[in-house]
Amino acid sequence: MCIFCKIIKGEIPSNRVLESDKFLAFHDINPVAPVHILIIPKEHIGSFHETPKELMGEMTPFIQEVAEKLGLDGSGYRLITNIGDDGGQEISHLHFHLVGGGRLSFPPLHEDYKKSI
Ligand code: AMP
Repeated sequence: MCIFCKIIKGEIPSNRVLESDKFLAFHDINPVAPVHILIIPKEHIGSFHETPKELMGEMTPFIQEVAEKLGLDGSGYRLITNIGDDGGQEISHLHFHLVGGGRLSFPPLHEDYKKSI
């Protein structure tokens, strides 16, 4: 069973922000911003690329509710989903990183492109 499935089952502790019958939001253990939340479906889906559109349709308002609960809807925030090896995905269970709480830098560059900036 993957680590996020264990978090859903409560076998691994997490700092939960919001939960519904289909989705869970909890604090990332290694935050990269003042607010860094992971939002996952309770159904095990490998990545965004395998996600049915019906699930995204349900996940979208859940993500918006998380941002509102954290007071980020006015100031703004960023959603990131890493996909596969080149995308930097470490855990193969669909998750959106919701980061915010301050101005974020952009863009996340490929190594070869960092030199030219
Ligand atoms: P990714 O590289 O997109 O797969 O992101 C995986 C994220 O999961 C990283 O930001 C990790 O810090 C986070 N993470 C790993 N284990 C845990 C955990 N037990 N609780 C909360 N976040 C975790």
